[in-house]
Amino acid sequence: MGFDSRKNLIIWVVIVLVGLNLFAWGWVFQESRSSFLRVIFFDVGQGSAVLIETPQKTQILVDGGPGPQIVERLGQALPFFDRSLDLIVSTHPDFDHLAGLVEVLKSYRVGAVAGTGVRGQTAEYEEFLAEAERERADQIVLKKGQVLRAGSDLKIEVLAPLEDFAGREVKDYNRSSLVLKVSYGQTDFLLTGDSPVSVEKELVEKMRDKLDIEVLQVGHHGSQSSTSQAWLEATSPEIAVIQVGQKNKYGHPSQEVLEKLKSYGIKILRTDETGDIRFLSDGYAISLISN
Ligand SMILES: [Zn+2]
Repeated sequence: MGFDSRKNLIIWVVIVLVGLNLFAWGWVFQESRSSFLRVIFFDVGQGSAVLIETPQKTQILVDGGPGPQIVERLGQALPFFDRSLDLIVSTHPDFDHLAGLVEVLKSYRVGAVAGTGVRGQTAEYEEFLAEAERERADQIVLKKGQVLRAGSDLKIEVLAPLEDFAGREVKDYNRSSLVLKVSYGQTDFLLTGDSPVSVEKELVEKMRDKLDIEVLQVGHHGSQSSTSQAWLEATSPEIAVIQVGQKNKYGHPSQEVLEKLKSYGIKILRTDETGDIRFLSDGYAISLISN
């Protein structure tokens, strides 16, 4: 009896020591990554969802894709104990960007919710508002020219929509889509939502000096309605990310857009081919993390 309990005690001590050791390694691992910004373009099927995480672990999710897949993707990207996000951003209220955000609000603590204030006319839009209310998340209306800052180096600038959509109902939500420039040190990502060629054109005319970036989220899942030649010349990306579902019914991405990207020598990464696409930036260069 006495012998058994001593053996049990020794086993427990070993378990605790191993546990502490793992914890220590976990800590070192976290610390070693601590100067990097992480940007993940999730594979959520036909839709968009992008996570931005600063070295200080401020987490921002831009769009949530078309459904509950996002909760699983976030669960894999973040430690199991991390069930909160600082900010979620809705670029526009289309299903393939917004429905997943409703699921995120149900599963995660969310500090704040941001969008253009445009009024959606769908059930998921109503649910999104109700969940944000229930969560008591701060509600932020983003307007052209505003800049969000997190930590010492992350800057997110609102480039579009060019008009004020707050409180409005519109026929075509794509024109109301946020276009966000995410800058960390000297590195830049451009998140475009489903912004169409007409908005690209105005941006090129009005703020060309702000458009030069390294990683471009290809507008509207590679549809022909976005990604003009002038847009690619002004943004001059090294990498183009297309968030698109396998065998989607829209035929995205269009062959024409793919050819255009290739003709400029831009590296194309597609979530339907590679799953989640993950980048790290140290403020000087962006590296792609292989799956
Ligand atoms: Zn879309």
